[in-house]
Amino acid sequence: MKINKNFDNLVPNYLFAEVAKRTSDFIEKNPDKKVIKLGIGDVTLPLVPVVVEAMKQGADELGKKETFKGYPDYEGYEFARQAIADYYKSYGVTVGVDEILINDGAKSDSGNIGDIFSDDNIVLVTDPVYPVYVDSNIMAGRKIVYANSNEQNGFAAMPDENVKADIIYLCSPNNPTGSAYTYDELRAWVDYANKNDAIIIYDAAYEAFITEDNCPRSIFAIDGARTCAIELCSLSKTAGFTGTRCGYTVIPKELERDGHNIYKLWYRREATKFNGVSWPVQRGAAAVFSDEGQRQIKENIAYYQENARIISSAMDELGIYYTGGKNSPYIWLKCPNGMGSWEFFDFLLEKANVVGTPGEGFGANGAGYFRLTSFGDRESTIEAVERIKEVLADM
Ligand code: PLP
Repeated sequence: MKINKNFDNLVPNYLFAEVAKRTSDFIEKNPDKKVIKLGIGDVTLPLVPVVVEAMKQGADELGKKETFKGYPDYEGYEFARQAIADYYKSYGVTVGVDEILINDGAKSDSGNIGDIFSDDNIVLVTDPVYPVYVDSNIMAGRKIVYANSNEQNGFAAMPDENVKADIIYLCSPNNPTGSAYTYDELRAWVDYANKNDAIIIYDAAYEAFITEDNCPRSIFAIDGARTCAIELCSLSKTAGFTGTRCGYTVIPKELERDGHNIYKLWYRREATKFNGVSWPVQRGAAAVFSDEGQRQIKENIAYYQENARIISSAMDELGIYYTGGKNSPYIWLKCPNGMGSWEFFDFLLEKANVVGTPGEGFGANGAGYFRLTSFGDRESTIEAVERIKEVLADM
């Protein structure tokens, strides 16, 4: 009996454990201090009323013989897929109802999509990066190459014609850097992928936070994407579904590689290893895309966006370089005075009693950078920002 030795190659990711440990040690030693956490990537506002109502109705339907549902379709119920296709249409992108697959969140599909690709493909990720793309490919034993996100490109890495890659993970708006690709930038990636016979796995989990017209919400807003891209999306940050669990993946029917249809391969994989998303959750998901659902979730998104604006304007006042904040709930900032990520973490915790996330936990290019999030409540965000301004003004 042998285990998958690729697991030996995973680098232990102590980031969030270490953040939690340093924070709890500090709180224990300083019980009188009110620590504010701006490090969390989880939402704090509850589900909106139309979603709760739809889920309650869904539960009632499961409790009656006439409306009871057993196993759902692997790809999701048609009414939910139709609601998603209509949502795409609302911002001018056409995707087929039969090209959408509903799932339990973008993390599962971003981690599992590799099942349909050979392990000798070369994977490209941008650095800093959402760690799931890296670790899931290390588990499969694939070679990973990194495209640098840095100050020169506004922490939005661009393709290099001299680098060969087969599977490309892009995340826009980006976690952790908050940067969002413009149409032109994304077109460069689409052209690169089509030219190199590569596939882009495009994570649009934060599309709902886009405010600038020059940034697409979907890779399928770019000509040529249908022959090279798979899009992953999620209701986690859009509609507070981090605990409820629902996302969706879009695979154009014409996407083919190596003599195989990619939608068909992924459908086969899902039919083998996944039994679908529950009826009440799909009822809740469809409610997100109703007119009233959109109105209600946009209020919550606007709340987080205002928090992001409050944090960003403090950075502007302090003259600190940052990306994000505009099209993203994340603010990715350069640690002041040349401090390292962990040095700045300790400094903020001790002097301002504010917790953030050290950038180097997301890759080598994160060293010297720091992530703050806008998912906290307004009062704490304002207080945290005031404290940060005070301690940094004294430096
Ligand atoms: N993709 C990115 C870039 C994320 O930041 C996250 C969550 O933080 C996810 C996917 C996971 O989303 P879900 O909750 O839908 O699994």
